[in-house]
Amino acid sequence: MTDFQRIILVHYHEIGLKGHNRASFEMRLLKNLEALLAPFPVVTIHRIAGRLLVFLREGTDWETAKLVSDAIGGIPGVARVSCGFKCARELDVMAEAALVALAEAGTFATFKVAARRNHTDFATGSMDMNQIIGAALCEAYPNKQVRMKNPDVTVGVEVVQNASYVYARSLPGIGGLPVGSSGKVVCLLSSGIDSPVATWKLARRGAVCVGVHFSGRPQTSDESEYLVDDIARVLERTGCIARVYTVPFGDYQREISLAVPPELRVIMYRRLMFKVAETIAHHERAGALVTGESLGQVASQTLDNIRCTDAAVELPVFRPLIGTDKLEIIAEAERLGSFEISSQDAPDCCTLFMPRAPETHAKLPVVLKAESSLPIERWVDEIVDAAEVRDYACPAYRGKKRA
Ligand code: ATP
Ligand code: MG
Repeated sequence: MTDFQRIILVHYHEIGLKGHNRASFEMRLLKNLEALLAPFPVVTIHRIAGRLLVFLREGTDWETAKLVSDAIGGIPGVARVSCGFKCARELDVMAEAALVALAEAGTFATFKVAARRNHTDFATGSMDMNQIIGAALCEAYPNKQVRMKNPDVTVGVEVVQNASYVYARSLPGIGGLPVGSSGKVVCLLSSGIDSPVATWKLARRGAVCVGVHFSGRPQTSDESEYLVDDIARVLERTGCIARVYTVPFGDYQREISLAVPPELRVIMYRRLMFKVAETIAHHERAGALVTGESLGQVASQTLDNIRCTDAAVELPVFRPLIGTDKLEIIAEAERLGSFEISSQDAPDCCTLFMPRAPETHAKLPVVLKAESSLPIERWVDEIVDAAEVRDYACPAYRGKKRA
């Protein structure tokens, strides 16, 4: 056991963080961390010199501290997480804390000290700190080697105005911007592999994400809805989803399949989905739609067909995976933790009333003509009215009431 207070330093990239922008970025990240770390033994979070400082409850052990660190590392806006101790600004105390931190860091053969001084009122420069603390560690570990390039462990020492922080475990976070710093988007969320990753990418760039799921119900079971809920719970861990609207879509697909030429069905389904999503976006005051499409992946994802579906709405449609290969998307889904859920088969509207040979080069005038006989506006109103809403923990989300 140690008397040093356990802390976690949260680093973020400072590029583009100037003036007012910077303060609101920091406050947003701080609020998100406060809310998302509620289940963990965190006492308080402070802002210090370009970092956030998370104080862990007294007596928190190393294993728990690592768990909290890893949870923090997945939260958008976090560039790096360092887990260690707060101590006095005295070199011998800092060396002692460095020893404790190093002892916890696991096995290693090589190490170095990387000190930095955020305040020049501390007399010792960073090079001298490296030497002095490094010497103390060498004395305690005569068999370990100091290595400047790619050491097994780097002991970080940061001196700020009233204290210093020492750590030997420092890992990259997922980066991006804190959720809530880039407006709101509506994500078309299926139980497939791609759309959860697309949603996560927008959240990572700071957007509050509201999902819309089209269920095949009542023409299929509600299985896909449970999978989407499981996926939303994964996204929720890092504050990456605020709410999901689930809409029963099966009957409308049936109507479409009866009314339009088979090869145009998929485009019609998708245009209606986009219109519903856009109406929900207006209610939510969201500024864009998001899909998990990747160019050429399936028939509906050709350039011509994308143009025909985009023409159904006025909002911009973001496709963060458009240039991504399936294997790359799978790797991202695994990292996110949604892959296993998405790999389960569930019938949703994607599997319903599919034509044998869907159009791959749809022409907009032909599509519009086929659509003109359908009561699209009434359908959109009905579908939006029938939507069921579920909220998830997203600290940045406001406006819990439905419009
Ligand atoms: P995914 O793995 O995301 O389901 P996919 O490879 O199955 O994608 P499509 O079925 O063509 O591809 O869907 C393309 C995109 O359309 C999805 O990424 C998603 O954004 C949206 N989408 C498809 N089906 C649904 C649905 N049932 N509910 C909501 N959005 C959907
Ligand atoms: Mg799908």
